[in-house]
Amino acid sequence: MSELFFGNDAAKVILKKAAGSQDHHHAYLLYGEDGLGKKTLARLFAEAFLCTGEDKPCGRCPACKKMEHGTHPDFQMIVGEKKNSIHIDSVRKIRQDCVVKPNDGSVKVYLIANIQDMTEEAFNAFLKTLEEPPLHTVFLLTAANLDLLPETIVSRVFPVPVYPLPDRLLCRALKERLPKLSDDEAERAAELAGGNLGKAIACVQSEEFTQRSGLLEQFVKALYAKREYDVLKVLAVYEKDREQQRQFLGEIVSLLRRALLAKTGGAVYSGKGLPFGPQRLVKLIALTEEVRGKLSTNANAGILSAYYCAEIWQMIG
Ligand SMILES: [Zn+2]
Repeated sequence: MSELFFGNDAAKVILKKAAGSQDHHHAYLLYGEDGLGKKTLARLFAEAFLCTGEDKPCGRCPACKKMEHGTHPDFQMIVGEKKNSIHIDSVRKIRQDCVVKPNDGSVKVYLIANIQDMTEEAFNAFLKTLEEPPLHTVFLLTAANLDLLPETIVSRVFPVPVYPLPDRLLCRALKERLPKLSDDEAERAAELAGGNLGKAIACVQSEEFTQRSGLLEQFVKALYAKREYDVLKVLAVYEKDREQQRQFLGEIVSLLRRALLAKTGGAVYSGKGLPFGPQRLVKLIALTEEVRGKLSTNANAGILSAYYCAEIWQMIG
């Protein structure tokens, strides 16, 4: 299981225990912000609940094979796409179906993703099922936030929080999904996405990310080669857009911090650190933060770039 889904060990322990026991709760609610993989985790646990093998989900037994091919008769999934998109009809169908005994095994699993998208009527109908759940059913539910759900629903489910990943794990998960990603890009994306794998993937696939990757690389190369003019050229790209420039300088700060961490042994990937000692890196970080702060004032962006560059050269020249 751990290699099938990165991180969130506490959630996995709760669900794994449930999947291996006769005495499980009838409804689990995985909640956490969008992009954390709640539906993927719930799907994996649906498989575990239905699996007839040893190390659930084994991926080899007939039940796991049926899940893989989408033909398991005791599994149903509904996914809310937007507010009020899960209608009472869908819930009625589940209510009728869940009273019928399982076809194959001992349990029927219903995965309802984004239950916050149920209409009020659907919620009321679903509540009746939660109040008197048939013995052989398990509901695996997901929601972005408990506050979006009626209290009556929340009080009848077993809540399972799903959290963002630590940077180290997110980098690994990203590299597994996108093997061509460089270590440095994975680290940047992990930082920008705040531990959210879905956001990190969307981030690295954006044009802006690719463009900034190129610019950061040029910036580092220019520092390596001590080419002042090249640094100015990189800084000129976003000069006309203060917010973009601020974000770009923010990325430079992150890059310098990662280089600093690498020097002090705390980085996820050692990467190729900049050729400066920790003291210089600390000064460079402070300088970049200072220039970034001044961009929020009326200071002329071109003059700021020139100042930034001149100060860098005083430090490293
Ligand atoms: Zn199996």
